[in-house]
Amino acid sequence: MLDRRSFLGTAAAAGAAPYAARAVPVAQPGPAQQPQPQDQPQDQRRGHESFMAEAIAEGRRLERYPFGAVIVRSGLVVARGVNASAENPAYHGEMVAIDDHAQRADDPDWGATTLYTTAEPCPMCMSACAWAGIRRVVWGTSIEGLRRTGLDQIDLSATAVADAARSFYSPRLLLGGVLADVTDAMFRRAQAIRDGGTPAGTG
Ligand SMILES: [Zn+2]
Repeated sequence: MLDRRSFLGTAAAAGAAPYAARAVPVAQPGPAQQPQPQDQPQDQRRGHESFMAEAIAEGRRLERYPFGAVIVRSGLVVARGVNASAENPAYHGEMVAIDDHAQRADDPDWGATTLYTTAEPCPMCMSACAWAGIRRVVWGTSIEGLRRTGLDQIDLSATAVADAARSFYSPRLLLGGVLADVTDAMFRRAQAIRDGGTPAGTG
């Protein structure tokens, strides 16, 4: 079974979008395929980190719950979102970014997009990615990491949700842990702020 930081590849990457074709290695799925971000070729890793930095910038707009997300297509950020669950409980950062892309794009072309999010998508958000057909999802902090900062979490990994949707959903990249040192610190700082203490770290 793939763990939540795993890479999920398929052999069917032909026809990938320009960014994806550059960034996504083709591999057979299976237990042996569990590379960490540091296993990614350096140029791909830098590309992921660059876009994760954009998601982190979104997350920093809400310091108590720094869930930020961006959607990338053809090497460009085309949509952004930050958690707005105070307004609507379904408005997680990923959902807001998905809505932003749906509103802005004449042709969303979901299959050519990559979603970057500061934390592993919850089952709601990962299901939305599956329904949309977003084939590349990259995150920083894991669900377990969120739980360690006092946030309630549904105990179902993004990889498990994607796997449960496999009859119609074929992700080409599910990659966790990208800039996790930064996102983990950001969520620890958010916990300290929520708890009314002095923020630790620089997150
Ligand atoms: Zn969510």
